[in-house]
Amino acid sequence: MIDLKKIWQDVCQKIIGLEGVNAISYSVWIQPLKPVCVKDNELILLAPTQNMKHVVNRSYREPIKAALKSTGSFFTDIRIISEDETPFYTDEIAEYSEKESVAEERPSQFIARYTFDNFVVGESNKLAYHAAQSVAKSPGVSDNAYLSFNPLFLYGGVGLGKTHLLHSIGNYVNEHSPELKVLYTPTEQLTNDYVEAISNNRNEKGVFNLHAFREKYRTVDMLMLDDVQFLQKRTGLQEVVFHIFNDLYQAGKQIVLTSDRPPSEISTLEDRLRSRFEGGLIADIGTPNLEMRIAIVRKKMVLEKIAVNDDVVNYLAEHIDSNIRELEGSLAKVIFFAKLKGLPYPDIETAKEALKNSVQKKSGIDSSDILRAASEYFGIPQSDIISKKRTKDVVEARMIAIYIIYEMLSLPLVTIGQIFGGRDYSTIIHSRDKIASKIKQDPATARAVKDIKASVSE
Ligand code: ADP
Ligand code: MG
Repeated sequence: MIDLKKIWQDVCQKIIGLEGVNAISYSVWIQPLKPVCVKDNELILLAPTQNMKHVVNRSYREPIKAALKSTGSFFTDIRIISEDETPFYTDEIAEYSEKESVAEERPSQFIARYTFDNFVVGESNKLAYHAAQSVAKSPGVSDNAYLSFNPLFLYGGVGLGKTHLLHSIGNYVNEHSPELKVLYTPTEQLTNDYVEAISNNRNEKGVFNLHAFREKYRTVDMLMLDDVQFLQKRTGLQEVVFHIFNDLYQAGKQIVLTSDRPPSEISTLEDRLRSRFEGGLIADIGTPNLEMRIAIVRKKMVLEKIAVNDDVVNYLAEHIDSNIRELEGSLAKVIFFAKLKGLPYPDIETAKEALKNSVQKKSGIDSSDILRAASEYFGIPQSDIISKKRTKDVVEARMIAIYIIYEMLSLPLVTIGQIFGGRDYSTIIHSRDKIASKIKQDPATARAVKDIKASVSE
């Protein structure tokens, strides 16, 4: 008998990172699917709603098929169905359900390879790592009477391991305290749930109303909310989150939050929620240094059971320095190139060839890339940034863009002045120096510079 659950678990493990599937889309669209049977060599997956069926069909068919293929399964096609179609499959479902009930174990909502063991610890993430471990070992309880880990708030740029740590907590608790109910939710999904809940309330049909929404989130032992910078300022949403937070907190339940920036810089956050988010431990995750990047590449090689020369490891770690997701992707690419060439393991030439574009792109940054990134970051049109406008936010964006262009491109001041609508070079010096000193005093400015730089280097 085919073990559908096992096959589906393997698919889930392989799918993240395939084109169009990140941790968020995975937990919103892929994870809720249920393998129900195989018919005519197709794996039949049940989607919880019609809408989900359509979205998965439209956007995730190919990655699911690719992941299925890579598990070595003999059936390589899939069909997504919704509840009303299950009658067409009753025979097949019956055939599989026996197995299902034997193996009935709650399928984990956590990605199996995201564990503490697989997480490389270094200077840039050790506080976050140890705090996450402490929370996993004693949720809701503080190690130290003077230091509360509730909530634990982890923040850092994209691809630096926040989601990995949340899943590590989840996997750890599932293993060591299976009686505890842990809920992991990307903020996007919480928002979707909320929207569904309030619309059902209005129509008075359906059962998932605001009450059910609150119950879902406040009846757990641990709530992990990923990427709270996406918590929209939407009537009622932050209020209900605030109440859920309080209920959990007062009941001594653990709350873990992540974001790409600290609470103080999430401008869409209501003050009372911000102060709740700041009430426990805030730990940041920074970009890894070279030594750590080398350790990460080595770790991935061990996990994937592949051999790579030291010079290839060093090349990767030296050139891919923005985030860990990119580092992983680059390693995968190098390995893939070596396979195509029929090499037993990648050599340095193959690595250079595989990463030609990403490495070259980095040195090929120009001022328009920086202007574009600054414009996106601040939500101010590029034409305003280079104009003579003197409103506060435009001036701020302009000075930061000047500073970054100066820093990253080392262009002559006169040239930078020309880029900014023919400004005098003394104006450029003034902006540059102003931001250089502001970075030291104002975390928001420092973060803006860091984020814009990171986004042009991507
Ligand atoms: P974030 O949620 O911060 O955007 P993720 O947790 O999704 O980042 O991490 C991106 C990828 O990098 C994941 O595949 C994760 O396993 C890996 N990763 C991140 N940090 C580490 C680390 N310290 N050690 C090993 N792998 C890591
Ligand atoms: Mg994440």
